[in-house]
Amino acid sequence: MNIEAAFVRSAVGASDLPRDGLAEVALVGRSNVGKSSLINALVRQRVARTSAAPGKTRLANVYRVRRGSIAPFYLLDLPGYGYARAPRQARGPQRGNRVGVQARVEAAGALSPADARRSSQAEFEAIVSVVFERAPAALLLVDARHPGLASDRAAWQWVHAAAGDAAVVATKIDKLGRGERIRASRELESVFETSVLPVSAVTGEGLDQLWTLIDRLKKSG
Ligand code: GDP
Repeated sequence: MNIEAAFVRSAVGASDLPRDGLAEVALVGRSNVGKSSLINALVRQRVARTSAAPGKTRLANVYRVRRGSIAPFYLLDLPGYGYARAPRQARGPQRGNRVGVQARVEAAGALSPADARRSSQAEFEAIVSVVFERAPAALLLVDARHPGLASDRAAWQWVHAAAGDAAVVATKIDKLGRGERIRASRELESVFETSVLPVSAVTGEGLDQLWTLIDRLKKSG
């Protein structure tokens, strides 16, 4: 199937986000989880830069994607969160509520390596909140080799609550042997209490299923 993908812009705030009402799918995950590689593998071209420069990490990258004759949509590639801090307790009201989204994003804690400045975390939280106020469909990417990290579990809480519809995808599945895959799958599904789709940007495994998942999320999102 023919796929067209183009980088639209890096967004710092609400005014940079698309206004034409097309469906949106947000991608969320830790730094280095393989988000850029997965975007490139999905659209079969290098639109996303892997190992992005540190200065760009607080921006959301917007891509316009069209696959076959299906209506185009936007991939909203959110900055990766870090791994240094333990999450605070999630709190706050319900979905669609500005305070709720902000509180959950903060609860993911995070977001920056131990030496990161407070301002960069505030910027991260700001862009994520702006995107999730739009209640996009969302995919949380987690590394198949590290099921159940506290930062990923916290991220799932706010993604799940704030997104129109959301799912979990396990990246880098090619790095696991058969037995390890089964174990990781069980653990992931038990931690996130939902089915988790294993994919590999390297071998292409799971990408057809990921397209099917994206189509489903867009419709219900
Ligand atoms: P991002 O920070 O989430 O955008 O992560 P990148 O896409 O830059 O990937 C981080 C590292 O993981 C890079 O060295 C990639 O080559 C590697 N990587 C990403 N996806 C895969 C995958 O599916 N399989 C393997 N083996 N490595 C991957």
